[in-house]
Amino acid sequence: AEPRVVVVGGGFAGATVAKYLKILDGGIRVTLVEAQSRYTTCPASNWLFAGMGDMERLSVDYQALRSRYGVEVVADTATALDLSRKRVQLQSGGAQAYDRLVLAPGIDFRWDVIAGYDAAAAERFPHAWKAGPQTLTLLRQVQAMPAGGVVLIAVPADPYRCPPGPYERASMMAFWLKQHKPRAKILILDAKRSFSKQALFEAGWAKHYGYGTPNSLIEWHSLADNPLLELHADSKILASEFGDRFTGDVLNIIPPQTAGSIARRSGLADAGGWCPVRPATAQSTFDEFVHVIGDAANYAPIPKSAFAANSEAKACAFAVVSLLREQPLAEAHWLNTCYSLVTPEHGISVAGVYKPDTGNTINSVSGAGGVSVGNNAEAERAEAEYAQIVYRNLVADSFA
Ligand code: FAD
Repeated sequence: AEPRVVVVGGGFAGATVAKYLKILDGGIRVTLVEAQSRYTTCPASNWLFAGMGDMERLSVDYQALRSRYGVEVVADTATALDLSRKRVQLQSGGAQAYDRLVLAPGIDFRWDVIAGYDAAAAERFPHAWKAGPQTLTLLRQVQAMPAGGVVLIAVPADPYRCPPGPYERASMMAFWLKQHKPRAKILILDAKRSFSKQALFEAGWAKHYGYGTPNSLIEWHSLADNPLLELHADSKILASEFGDRFTGDVLNIIPPQTAGSIARRSGLADAGGWCPVRPATAQSTFDEFVHVIGDAANYAPIPKSAFAANSEAKACAFAVVSLLREQPLAEAHWLNTCYSLVTPEHGISVAGVYKPDTGNTINSVSGAGGVSVGNNAEAERAEAEYAQIVYRNLVADSFA
């Protein structure tokens, strides 16, 4: 009988692995279980805050996976995994049997870190860390804010989805505010001591937004020793451990994250909340017939990005085919590139190449990655263009 692979989650990781499994071996039956009929990409969603693009253009569907590659797409939510019987239970009542399961459910949020900030409060103070309706809510809030208003962006400790994402968002908001509300301010309250591409962001903010001067549109504050512990929703105040109180007109609170809940409920996450894997095959360390990829899995030091999710998915597809067909495994390696826009015409990037070490660790290949050169107007313009090209190619490679 034809081997059966079920993929749970049709984001960048799940869509890519489903597509590439069929490309590598058309004789495998591949079923993708995805809760939503359309997917909204988080990449490029920050650009809306600068007035670039619209939500409609961030939306993709699963038609190409079906018709071009023969993936069976099931619009349903996986509610439970029966690991001993190798079955995925669906909300509609049915079940999907598998020989190998690929789990790619992305992230869920931890509501136990900032008291008073839960799923209901997030409708009013959107995280917008899953692109969709909250992205638009946040956009409208920023646009409606008073002329001298303040946006607070609360950023969690590592690891979380898209390390440079909060700083790109601040940049894109600042670009719009500079034209429409130049007296406004963006206050980044960070649980970390430093952040991704910090020198490049700060140089860009100094160049465009007065960073480092009293009139800067953006201020960055590390609260690594004084974490945010409480939201007072009525007064819009975020309070820290030592009693500092921060208030703003718009509160964009990005909570700490974990692997998608289906992974945690099935016992496939560790105490840190993420799914440990054997990198070479993406197999869960808890169950050899389950592979975990994308944001839900722990591939550190590879960051949680769509580019990395796509790369992990391809390596996983090769491994799954080899295991099902009892062929020797190819050596895995992974790529990541994260572009960020500081303005629509000023791009910066970080890139890395990764290989498995002996054992269960991943090494960054030295000399094979790096960040933008910095302070080079021509390169900044070119990288802003590459950011858009890479986005389009990544979406096409994953969903089309
Ligand atoms: P997701 O994309 O979250 O997909 C998970 C899917 O699983 C979802 O569609 C969900 O509906 C489905 N699902 C979950 N549970 C179930 C279930 N039980 N049953 C059925 N379906 C289920 N990355 C980049 O590379 N470049 C960027 O420029 C970039 N910008 C970003 C900007 C922002 C603001 C944010 C928030 C993120 C950004 N990222 C970027 C990161 C990127 O969005 C994530 O790393 C990527 O989406 C991870 O893919 P994934 O497939 O693991 O998870």
